[in-house]
Amino acid sequence: MHFETLAIHDGQTPDPYTGSVTVPLYQTSTFERPSLDERGEFFYSRIGNPTRSALESTLALLENGRHGTTFASGVAAMMGALQVLKPGDHVVSSLDVYGGSYRIFEQLMRPWGVETSYAASEATESYLDCIRPKTRMIWLETPSNPLLQISDIRALAAIANERGIVLAVDNTFASPYFQRPLDLGAHIVVHSTTKYLGGHSDVIGGAVITSDERLHHTIRNYQGAAGAIPGPWDCWLVLRGVKTLKIRMEEHQKNALHLARALEKHPAVERVIYPGLASHPQHELAKSQMSGFGGMLTIALKSGLPAVRKMLEATKLFIIADSLGGVESLVASPALMTLGPLSREEKQRRGCTDDLVRLSVGLENAEDLEADLMQALATI
Ligand SMILES: *Cc1c(COP(=O)(O)O)cnc(C)c1O
Repeated sequence: MHFETLAIHDGQTPDPYTGSVTVPLYQTSTFERPSLDERGEFFYSRIGNPTRSALESTLALLENGRHGTTFASGVAAMMGALQVLKPGDHVVSSLDVYGGSYRIFEQLMRPWGVETSYAASEATESYLDCIRPKTRMIWLETPSNPLLQISDIRALAAIANERGIVLAVDNTFASPYFQRPLDLGAHIVVHSTTKYLGGHSDVIGGAVITSDERLHHTIRNYQGAAGAIPGPWDCWLVLRGVKTLKIRMEEHQKNALHLARALEKHPAVERVIYPGLASHPQHELAKSQMSGFGGMLTIALKSGLPAVRKMLEATKLFIIADSLGGVESLVASPALMTLGPLSREEKQRRGCTDDLVRLSVGLENAEDLEADLMQALATI
């Protein structure tokens, strides 16, 4: 069946008790046991809840995986995926990763005995150079945040499989509608469901999807034991979001491409980074592993930080905010906001320069959005 049909039907069959066509909100902490010696499928909501189960099976189906496990946030989901490691293990991560992922590697995993090396996101050889005998995981974010670099999932899956390394992909930017890493050979997919999957900027959540039974067992066990679970209401909101993922992603992409083309012609803009543009250095690779390019777009302004400040303060429709993937358009300065806590050297190493502006292109009318950006650029 097609993606949009799965998103609406699978994992979300009508409630057997009442016939409710939407999955009911099981806002309960516990479930009556049939008898003292038996328990049903559900008994305590940290371990399992029907609303959460519906979301977990839906997300697994959309990623073409066997098992989904949800968490209270994207970073909690990442911690879930990292439980397959133990002290002494080594990780190779793409260099351009979400600031919170970098913080987990450096501030939580390193003191715990798991070291991470960073490879140039767009160069497969760079990952090879970083691999050590103790490397147990390759962690990719593709397209990456904020530089929208593309890592070659198929090539890295081959490298990982040869060496018994787990390949994990943060698929938040593309969403399963545009990219399915498990089909390309990855072992684990991680999402911040806060972004496109939820899609309405009204919930924080995360998910891990895998088809590997052993990996799933570890991650599922951690979910119940550590307890960073999403509540039923949050699961319900993400389930509702997922039903419209296809039409939202198509529109996000259409608007982003429209703006990317308009911005490419603007004299104040040094460069436009969007994987859907032929000018993107990895446009061909993006086309080979994605069925679309999403709604995230980054530009560099010719006159640097002063111009960035002016532009961000002048936009009227684009809201200055840290998140992404919602129906409303958001604008951010990666150097000042999402990667603000990093030192100047760390930012420089990652290519996160002061002149960058990151746009999460929403679902407003493309011409209204273009007019807003043009008037904001006219103030610099
Ligand atoms: C937002 C984000 C995360 C973290 O998710 P939270 O839900 O904020 O915890 C991880 N990876 C990427 C790419 C993100 O954009």
